[in-house]
Amino acid sequence: MKTIFEKSNGVDGVCIGETEEIKFEGFIPKELLREGNIGLPQLSELEVLRHYKALSDRNFCIEKGFYPLGSCTMKYNPKVNELLASLEGFANLHPLQSDEDSQGALELMYNLQEKLKYITGMDAVTLQPAAGAHGELTGMMIIKKYFEVKGETNRTKVIIPDSAHGTNPASAKMCGFEIVEVKSNEKGQVDLEELKKLLDENVAAIMMTNPNTLGIFEEKVLEISKIMHDNGSLLYYDGANFNAIMGWTNPALMGFDVVHLNLHKTFATPHGGGGPGAGPVGVVEKLKDFLPAPVIEFDGKKYYRNYDIKHSIGKVRSFYGNFGVLVRAYAYILMMGNNLKLASADAVLNANYIKEKLKGVYELPYDEPCMHEFVLSGERQHEEGVSTLGIAKRLMDDNIHPPTVYFPLIVHEAIMIEPTESESKEVLDNFINAMLNIAKEIKENPEEVLKSPQKTPVRRVDETLAARHPDLTFKS
Ligand SMILES: *Cc1c(COP(=O)(O)O)cnc(C)c1O
Repeated sequence: MKTIFEKSNGVDGVCIGETEEIKFEGFIPKELLREGNIGLPQLSELEVLRHYKALSDRNFCIEKGFYPLGSCTMKYNPKVNELLASLEGFANLHPLQSDEDSQGALELMYNLQEKLKYITGMDAVTLQPAAGAHGELTGMMIIKKYFEVKGETNRTKVIIPDSAHGTNPASAKMCGFEIVEVKSNEKGQVDLEELKKLLDENVAAIMMTNPNTLGIFEEKVLEISKIMHDNGSLLYYDGANFNAIMGWTNPALMGFDVVHLNLHKTFATPHGGGGPGAGPVGVVEKLKDFLPAPVIEFDGKKYYRNYDIKHSIGKVRSFYGNFGVLVRAYAYILMMGNNLKLASADAVLNANYIKEKLKGVYELPYDEPCMHEFVLSGERQHEEGVSTLGIAKRLMDDNIHPPTVYFPLIVHEAIMIEPTESESKEVLDNFINAMLNIAKEIKENPEEVLKSPQKTPVRRVDETLAARHPDLTFKS
């Protein structure tokens, strides 16, 4: 397909009319002023529309097909959320407007904080962080400052399981912590004995995901929280997998002190293509005074932004977070009510269903009941000539988005599958059949499988080249 520059045919799409020449001298340094023509494409309005429509038609999206993507919950985002977020009072409100002028928005944020407190069991919540990783950073900054104020600056180490998402060590490291890895045992869970060996007075915290990225519930979590607290350390909960447990349990009951949620995963706000997201952070009572300012409060009469937080780590984002995402998540929570619990149950049931159907044909390294996701290994197929990458590409020809591959790192040729609660049995069966069929094709004719994708607008790309030397500028 041609770029819009190549399609340019000299037609003026818009007519601005005569304008007076504007003198820029004095405002903009001379060397920054453009000398020649700007070189924008010229097409009629209709041609521009057709160009972008054709481009968007080539996109894959949840409205077109199934997304069995693990770790990043890709559930359906109800369209009513979009409608509500686009209401004029929400969409056009300026973040610098006064509290008096913003009561509706502040009330919504306050109520969302309250709902998230209830769902996580935490005592206070900030809505500021713009993503899960940003929430991790915020949480680790809170933990760091907590120990500083306490005078325990010796606590410089953070323990992270080898199954963790890469953002966990990255966030802790950005706060200046030293990362100590703890191994998983044969059940795919944190090895308690290994953990005990790593503990000393310099450990600030452990960061855990539960269920973890293998989709397995950490059964020893209560013992872990006890030994961490006995050691004077804190527990951070990566809530990316919250879709497995909503309403059934919560991180407070498991003994965690700081939690982030990914509203764009669990709470159904769109995040294909990277955002915008929201990663609210909840904390227990003793960490309340460290939250980023402002938090939204209610004095019985009006809602207001409270900047007066004793040991606040400061601001982590401009204004109050991605407000449009907060509106969508709040709408979703209100709409679902107690059915959030049912959503988790269905997500877990769907994952177990697919796992049981695929496990004989694909290797299942941790053969345990799973939560909302599970991880296969494509090792057998790899030996037969097609790696996990090839399987992922082949799925695209069945109009299925590839699952997450090569993560978590502790599983060779990992294929991570999370169907979510949104899909019907028919969709799940279709996916199962596609996966079984691919395994069969690999046995019979691996070369043919390696030619995929054949039905997509763009065929197989050189991923190394694309990552190392991305060429994103059009040159005529
Ligand atoms: C997605 C994810 C994150 C990071 O969240 P973002 O919102 O993408 O920044 C962290 N941990 C796990 C387990 C995740 O799946």
